[in-house]
Amino acid sequence: MSQERTEGDLRNTGLSLKHDREWDYELDRIVEEVQERDATTVGLQFPEGLKRRGPAVADDLREELPDDVNVMISGQPCYGACDLDTYLMRRTDVFVHFGHSPMKESDKIIYVPLFSNVDVFPIMEQALDEELVPAEDDEDVGLVTTAQHMNKFEEMRSWLEERGYEVHTRKGDDRLTHEGQVLGCNYASADVDADQILYVGGGKFHPLGLAMEHPDKKVVIADPVNNSVTVADTEQFMKQRYASVHKAMDAEEWGVIFCTKIGQGRWEIAQEIVAENDDAYLITMDEVTPDRLTNFGLDAYVNTGCPRITTDDGPQFKKPMLTPQEYKIAIGEEDLEALEFDTFHGTW
Ligand code: SF4
Repeated sequence: MSQERTEGDLRNTGLSLKHDREWDYELDRIVEEVQERDATTVGLQFPEGLKRRGPAVADDLREELPDDVNVMISGQPCYGACDLDTYLMRRTDVFVHFGHSPMKESDKIIYVPLFSNVDVFPIMEQALDEELVPAEDDEDVGLVTTAQHMNKFEEMRSWLEERGYEVHTRKGDDRLTHEGQVLGCNYASADVDADQILYVGGGKFHPLGLAMEHPDKKVVIADPVNNSVTVADTEQFMKQRYASVHKAMDAEEWGVIFCTKIGQGRWEIAQEIVAENDDAYLITMDEVTPDRLTNFGLDAYVNTGCPRITTDDGPQFKKPMLTPQEYKIAIGEEDLEALEFDTFHGTW
């Protein structure tokens, strides 16, 4: 994803390094598992915001592990558990993925979640004072958070219940590991019977997606990382989406992107589009960036990979970049009013 934007920027999600904090890399658990499996090769994969800690973590591990164990670091971009470095994974006995909860369990992979130790309750108190409709007004609340704050989820729920709220939570589908957890592409955990949702977590990337996916709900953002309380406002996002769809309506030749990242493939959707449109070309790629598309010179693109590349980075592509549903709107198969946020279900 791009380095310029602020909305949707993973550097603001709580995995950022804005304030220095120590993460628990669970080195003892990794060493134990490496020894148990007699592994001689270990791969480490960090999300973008934590890559610069990689060499130090590798050093610490090398100190603990026998000399013949080879520790390697993935340099591939990484934004989620959908994004495992399969090349390195195939070449290592143990593969450690830091910072995301499992999208799918596998014997070889050790997921280290890196829970945040930031205190969430002062900002929840502020959210309650400033934006949440009080429990006395007969208003329930839905509660969601990201993997980084999952270790505090039950405490958050009790905290709200002590203040009189009926708290609605649910575990989403298989793409999500925990009850109340959201991903940038999946908000099934917010399908609850409450008109207001409290999102506790860093940045606006997740709550904006949540508000787009659930336009009927008020999404209150209690951000303990940037210490702010706001209400998710999707207006600017929606305007951008409408503008992209309009621009694409004149497109004659389409590029249909199939993302080869392990947890981002939507093969059937991509296939269906090219099967029905002679002027659509299936393009396979891992990282979807504006530069990589420029030389194709097509009029517009449909991204069947990570929906946040389309919605958050969309304006940076030189040609319109649409979600699969937006493509259908652009070619006149669906109404503009039907436009919905593109979510991603299932796992890899
Ligand atoms: S596909 Fe989902 S989990 Fe993967 S980077 Fe995009 S938003 Fe995150």
